[in-house]
Amino acid sequence: MSNYPDLQLYIGGAWRRTAETLPVINPADESVIGAVPVASTGDLDAALEAAERGFAVWRKTSPARRAEVLRKAAALLRERINEVATDITREHGKPFQQARLEVIRGAEFFEWDAGEAQRTYGRVIPSEPGIRYIVHHQPIGTVAAFSPWNFPMSQPARKIAGALAAGCSIIIKAAEETPAGCLHIARAFHDAGLPAGVLNLVFGIPTQISEYLIPQEQVRLIAFTGSTAVGRTLTGLASRYVKPTLMELGGHAPVIVCDDADPVKAGIASAIRKVRNSGQVCTSPTRFFVHESVYKPFTEAFIERARAVKVGNGLEEGVEMGPVANHRRVEAMEMLVADAVSKGAKLLLGGERPRNSGYFYPPTVLADLPGDARVMREEPFGPLAVINPVSSLEEAIEKANGVPFGLAAYAFTNSAANVDQITDDLEAGNVSINTLEASVAETPFGGVKESGFGREGGAEGILHYTVIKNVSHRMA
Ligand code: NAD
Repeated sequence: MSNYPDLQLYIGGAWRRTAETLPVINPADESVIGAVPVASTGDLDAALEAAERGFAVWRKTSPARRAEVLRKAAALLRERINEVATDITREHGKPFQQARLEVIRGAEFFEWDAGEAQRTYGRVIPSEPGIRYIVHHQPIGTVAAFSPWNFPMSQPARKIAGALAAGCSIIIKAAEETPAGCLHIARAFHDAGLPAGVLNLVFGIPTQISEYLIPQEQVRLIAFTGSTAVGRTLTGLASRYVKPTLMELGGHAPVIVCDDADPVKAGIASAIRKVRNSGQVCTSPTRFFVHESVYKPFTEAFIERARAVKVGNGLEEGVEMGPVANHRRVEAMEMLVADAVSKGAKLLLGGERPRNSGYFYPPTVLADLPGDARVMREEPFGPLAVINPVSSLEEAIEKANGVPFGLAAYAFTNSAANVDQITDDLEAGNVSINTLEASVAETPFGGVKESGFGREGGAEGILHYTVIKNVSHRMA
């Protein structure tokens, strides 16, 4: 098995060490597995200069060539899948097979946006004779991006793919807890022949880096994925400098199970999806509103499947759920469960941390929750599901919409009328019916309300990395 990588910054096409580092911890056993470099302002200045030079080259590079480099990097990541996935499991904890799927997903983001690089069509606006109005999409410039730890490789991949496909340069601060996922991306682009300075990777103290980079003149777009609280801070800072932002923030996904759905099938599918990535997914199905006529079989099927989940070190064969990524998540789960139980919720499964080392927390199910339980409003971001009965679809939709978030929402039904009502009335950027998949490379992904704004992926994603320029040309 390969060693966990020697982590460095990647600036101007070269690897760079720093005086200061922070430990990287394996959440499965709390051992220190690496040292992540901490960028100084000197390093950030170098990244800004490199990104400016990189942008000058890349914006003049043909879309076909840009696509070729993106596809080559994706191919290298696919070739290196086992090495990349092993490092993701070591630093994040997720089962190896899920880490492999993440690498494939990241590669798909690059491949999809490679195609989009050649499809950022402009428009010719019909005009009076003698003048032409032509709308162009041009790359916005240098992007400052911040990606979180829940998907160490595919989260940064989304932002790098959009930026590079559009012809932008990017400085990405990937998560310090899980740095190898993005390091492998930088290696792949380096090997794929990306010109120096187009992609720059930094790590460090998140607040210091965002506060330093966002005001800089070269930075033209801020792209962030993470919590609503941090998104609010970064949006505030960006607005002071009148800079656009792309914000993928928290969710608290509702799942509506209608009276006509197969409750056992829905329960099993929901339990499997809930434990994916230990529930640390912004689209993770969490608040279940189940029609009272199917509530019992749904809940029983969910619990039976969740109880069977094998929890352990993600590198062990057959493990379906690893630890949560850090101790903050364990504390959050414990606090939310204690709060709900103290207010009268029923704890049907889990809720107790096993007494071994590592940040393990079991699949946990709460039922019959009062409206004032904190977990009904706060995203648990862990393997915790809350199940409540409802007596109508209207009630389910009202409750589903009753939080400040609107990222993913799900429903199980076979009725076309229900599908129409759900499509019209659920407040979410992504609604999935009879499937718990919320986002693939070819569809636009993003939220409404405090889940953020802007879309990643689909035909829409790349457009955030462009500016619209209208050219009015009067013929001499
Ligand atoms: P957090 O808000 O402290 O951090 C989230 C991410 O933002 C981390 O990667 C962190 O490095 C980065 N960050 C924090 N402050 C920053 C700053 N000032 N400038 C730039 N980047 C900054 O929360 P956490 O404890 O790491 O995670 C818990 C919460 O974060 C979850 O409850 C969830 O809502 C949210 N989260 C969401 C996603 C997502 O995919 N939308 C991913 C990870 C975390």
